[in-house]
Amino acid sequence: MTMKNYLKDLLADIFFPAFCISCNIPGEWWCVDCRSKVHKVNEKICSKCLKVGEHECEGVLPFACVQAFGFYHDPNLRSVITNIKFKGAYALEGVVKEFIKENRRLLQFRNVDCLVPLPLSEKRLKDRGFNQALIVAEVLKQVCCIDKPLRKNLLKRVLHSEPQSSLSNDYKLRSCNILDSFYCDSEVPERVLLVDDVVTTGATAGEAARVLLKNGAKEVHLICLAIGA
Ligand SMILES: [Zn+2]
Ligand SMILES: [Zn+2]
Repeated sequence: MTMKNYLKDLLADIFFPAFCISCNIPGEWWCVDCRSKVHKVNEKICSKCLKVGEHECEGVLPFACVQAFGFYHDPNLRSVITNIKFKGAYALEGVVKEFIKENRRLLQFRNVDCLVPLPLSEKRLKDRGFNQALIVAEVLKQVCCIDKPLRKNLLKRVLHSEPQSSLSNDYKLRSCNILDSFYCDSEVPERVLLVDDVVTTGATAGEAARVLLKNGAKEVHLICLAIGA
């Protein structure tokens, strides 16, 4: 994001004071009380299908390991994640920073060579002005003191596919929509931490991971703020 946009957001924050997106109380975009009520992911997330708990797995996702701070079906977390991006990058960064700070003990893997945010297409980046996955990756690196480079241009996105949220939750449909929309033009380090804000079926992140694996990665770990449909 540009300095101009950042200042614009900062000014908006001063002139249009924040209120909690989840409970409407004035003060912060997400109040400390609502943040503390997020339903934590205490079980291991299946790296092949993203389910938690005992299940028969038919998943084909290529991740080495998957971590999330909460569930997307949690209305509190969901409403904040879906609405905060419309308040601008400054507000998003503030909310993500507080949330990750309070939950950083949930992060178990740090043995990676680089962080890679899931890229947006050029067009969507232009429309929105910032990539929310990049903001999550920057905050994660800073708050969790991950002493590895953030490679924001390692993975690139070509096609402007339909927004995944406009399709039903069908994994196959979503995989078709996203196919071939990522590429790398340089060698990928062995262990990659792929970062996104929300992962639902895993079709998009899965396709990104396959491209990273094809270009030199040996394992791709996935981390996101919220997981699940
Ligand atoms: Zn609140
Ligand atoms: Zn599974």
